[in-house]
Amino acid sequence: MNKTKMIGTLGPSSSTYEVIRDMINAGVDVIRINMSYADFDFARDAILNVRKINLENQFETGIMLDTRGPEVRIGGLEKPIIQLEKNKMIRIVYSDIVGNSDIISVPYKEIITHSKIGDEIYLNNASVKLVVVNKDEDTLMCSIKNDGVIKTESTINVPNATFNIKFLSNYDKEIIKFAVDMQVDYLALSHVKEEMDILDVNDMLIGLNDNNIQLISKIENKQALDEIEKILKVSDGIIIARGDLGIELDIEKVPSIQKKLTKLTKDKEKICIIATEMLASMEENEKPTRAEVSDVANAVLDKTDALMLGAETAVGNYPVQTVKIMNNIIDEIEKEIDYNDLLLEISRNEEINISKAIAYSSVDSANRVKASAIVCSTMSGTTAKDISNYRPSCPVIAISPNAKVVRGLSVNYGIIPLNVGLAETTDELVHLSVEAAKKVLKLGNGDKIVIVGSFPLESVNYTNFMKIEEIK
Ligand code: PGA
Ligand code: MN
Repeated sequence: MNKTKMIGTLGPSSSTYEVIRDMINAGVDVIRINMSYADFDFARDAILNVRKINLENQFETGIMLDTRGPEVRIGGLEKPIIQLEKNKMIRIVYSDIVGNSDIISVPYKEIITHSKIGDEIYLNNASVKLVVVNKDEDTLMCSIKNDGVIKTESTINVPNATFNIKFLSNYDKEIIKFAVDMQVDYLALSHVKEEMDILDVNDMLIGLNDNNIQLISKIENKQALDEIEKILKVSDGIIIARGDLGIELDIEKVPSIQKKLTKLTKDKEKICIIATEMLASMEENEKPTRAEVSDVANAVLDKTDALMLGAETAVGNYPVQTVKIMNNIIDEIEKEIDYNDLLLEISRNEEINISKAIAYSSVDSANRVKASAIVCSTMSGTTAKDISNYRPSCPVIAISPNAKVVRGLSVNYGIIPLNVGLAETTDELVHLSVEAAKKVLKLGNGDKIVIVGSFPLESVNYTNFMKIEEIK
């Protein structure tokens, strides 16, 4: 059973109940809906489908919703689509004009004032590249570097210009309200730049009485990299968004950023997700390239929590097959990991509290007695995350009477979230744990499980109890 998780993004290729179900059964742990592309009706239908599948599966698949973020878009154009030609010139202005192939407008004056001669500017999701060749107070004169098209309100990326635009657009506020109404598990915040962006969302969630949704910051620009320590402090985790990182920075910098961010994020015990183009060629083909297979395997060796499929499952021709292939690659490479070494690497000599000591001991014991699972009874999810962060060799079954709590563990490495009844006594806890392990992992006679929880259950609210049980 894979421990590195998979996130599958929905889109036109994966909108039906059947495809979503098949993706989940092929191993997707979290379903993602990117509100930059999806509308509210699409998202509502998808979420209801996942909830229906959860009831049938008896384990919980989580839901992640992406905000659109403070994207900058060009103004209106004479025609819906306008062709731009390589080596021609185009002017960028800050004024109320209708654009064409010679001139376009932008909504912030700083785009003009902060850009320098030689800077690159990208239009329409970076499909057209411009270079600034001249400028005056209110115009940038740019040379077009490749043939391409722009549309009314195409995106514009200006990697070198800094300007203040409000992080929360009205559209993103609607998305956050919707996320609370639909009780989604994760909000992925697009294009964050600083800790205030996340704190603004957090304030909004407090105002909406939500203390459940976890905030995942998408790291996709230079400013966010500069502020990463502060951003991590106020986020539940990050997505290493290799797509936009590869546009905003030189593409060859992306692998080392991936290595540094995965290490930093895990040191801070936050959720780490690697995204974009992991199996990109499978949008068109039934089989991935060797390089993609290596990329997926290496991301597992980086010890991340989850790998994300984007366009592959949203608009690709083989959404379910892509999940199966990723699942197989993860499965194969995880066999090569030495979990005793890994635990030594992770555990430091620092003082830890009782719950963490139990978490550490459960992983150490499970690795040494070759247990088939750690079963963790959890009220808030904290102990299950602690166990996951010690990267055990076996899966961690997190059991709780609260479905929201276990769904909120769906993206964490190794955790199988299970919504079960409340155990009133330790005997009941052992019984429930054995039944859970038998059900989800088909364990039987002679298999060992490590059980952790609180004792006595009615008066202790932290984890202080561990038992190793041999199933009979
Ligand atoms: P996106 O973000 O899928 O919203 O574009 C991921 C990335 O930029 O890599
Ligand atoms: Mn992005």
